[in-house]
Amino acid sequence: MIRELTCIICPKGCQLKVELDENKKVISVTGYTCKRGEVYANTECTAPMRTITTTAAVIGGGVVPVKTDKTVPKEMMFDCMKVINQVRVSEDAKLGDIVIENILGTGANVVTTRNVKI
Ligand code: SF4
Repeated sequence: MIRELTCIICPKGCQLKVELDENKKVISVTGYTCKRGEVYANTECTAPMRTITTTAAVIGGGVVPVKTDKTVPKEMMFDCMKVINQVRVSEDAKLGDIVIENILGTGANVVTTRNVKI
C-alpha cells in the first residue's frame, strides 16, 4: 500500500510517498529532499504528532494566542483542547508564559505566543 503525504515540516511542502506493508509498517519513503521529511513520514505513519495552536480565555475577557511548546500525539489533540478551553490566563501574562504545564502528561507545556496586554 502506498500512502501519499505532504511534508508539513517546512513551507516547501515536498510530496512524500510512503510504502507500507500489510501491518502498516513503513517499508520505504520517497519524495523528501531532506532527512526531516523522511523522519516526518515515518512518524506520521506510525505515531502522528501535532503542535496545537489556538487561543485561551483571559480573566476579565478576551483571548490570547497559545500553543504547545512540543508536539503532542495527534489522537490527544481533542482532549488537550478541552483542557485549554477551561483555562483562564492572567491579564498580566507575558509572551512565553506557561499557561498549562505538561498538558495531560504529554510533556508539552501550553505557552502564550504574545503578551496579553498589547
Ligand atoms: S522534506 Fe525537507 S525540504 Fe521537503 S518539506 Fe519536508 S522539511 Fe521541507
